[in-house]
Amino acid sequence: MGIMNKLITQNKEEEKREVLRLIDVLHDENYLSRAEFLFLLKNISLDELEYLKDKADQVRNRVYGKRVFMRGLIEFSNYCKQGCNYCGIRAMNKGVDRYRLDKETILDCAKEGYRLGYRTFVLQSGEDPKFDDEVMCDIIRSIKSEFPDTAVTLSVGEKTREQYQKYYDAGADRYLLRHETANKEHYEKLHPESMSFDNRMECLKNLKDIGYQTGCGIMINSPGQSDETLADDLEFIASFKPHMVGIGPFLNHSETPFAGFDDGTINQTSVMVALVRLILPEVLLPATTALGTLDGRGREMVLKAGANVVMPNLSPTEQRAKYEIYENKICTGDEAAHCRGCIETRIHFTGYEVDMSIGHHKSMEV
Ligand code: SF4
Repeated sequence: MGIMNKLITQNKEEEKREVLRLIDVLHDENYLSRAEFLFLLKNISLDELEYLKDKADQVRNRVYGKRVFMRGLIEFSNYCKQGCNYCGIRAMNKGVDRYRLDKETILDCAKEGYRLGYRTFVLQSGEDPKFDDEVMCDIIRSIKSEFPDTAVTLSVGEKTREQYQKYYDAGADRYLLRHETANKEHYEKLHPESMSFDNRMECLKNLKDIGYQTGCGIMINSPGQSDETLADDLEFIASFKPHMVGIGPFLNHSETPFAGFDDGTINQTSVMVALVRLILPEVLLPATTALGTLDGRGREMVLKAGANVVMPNLSPTEQRAKYEIYENKICTGDEAAHCRGCIETRIHFTGYEVDMSIGHHKSMEV
């Protein structure tokens, strides 16, 4: 039993009552002990998931209304010096067709995004040494001076505190760095020896200290994950209080050490998204593209579990398929305008409203 063993259809009366009680406590107090999180994860069934999702939806409606924030994603390099065991573009995968966008192309993507109404750009890449601090700061400064009413979110991996400070001073507003797991042993299973759990945690702390709206996050059903490690994640999220949390399903990639491992499911992901919404009512929670890959309506299902952000792609279509962290990624052939239209229809159809504004975290709204 437990969310790691998919979810059971129905529960015994006694467990059902306790799970529902814990969901109510979390809703009212935004906190549970680790033991209570663990009980909930181990005993929630599909019945109680519906209750949990309703509660999470109520909370997001109270805080952000029906708005779903749109972020324009620009994947500017799939070169990476790291070797995360789950990632299709890890350095060791020699089969990847590598690309880098130059500054002009990145600015063209931003220009097209701005024309389509986007006011947040997410600059994402592998850990590519070619984009040194000078190049990064120049790109950030150029976007911010050409489009001053936008936010720039970075998702470029682990850097030193000094580097994070430079990017912040150049105008970056937000930073996404998934912690992947709050359990050291599990972290070591997911990463090569050259990467360290302590450094990842230090990076996150530095980002928040500097003043970024900071995002952490996890994959669901990553190899070695358990209800126990997920309870660690919930505890960590409750204490770290990130502004954003990216939660998506693990999708195995055939050219990684985790080829053939079981993928995460929409229901497992929904449990964690909804719990995080109850822990941090003001958090920004994306319905990730990986969900759309897993199930045609995956993003819509997770919007109903408390998510309130989507990140359509603005990268040039000829490069999109090459940013293959996982396989069979959706929307790789669609123009930016098509992506925007498609996701907008999906959002409306699910009963929510598209919000193209800058969409800061509630605590940062002026
Ligand atoms: S997850 Fe990020 S840092 Fe790790 S190998 Fe992939 S692109 Fe590189």
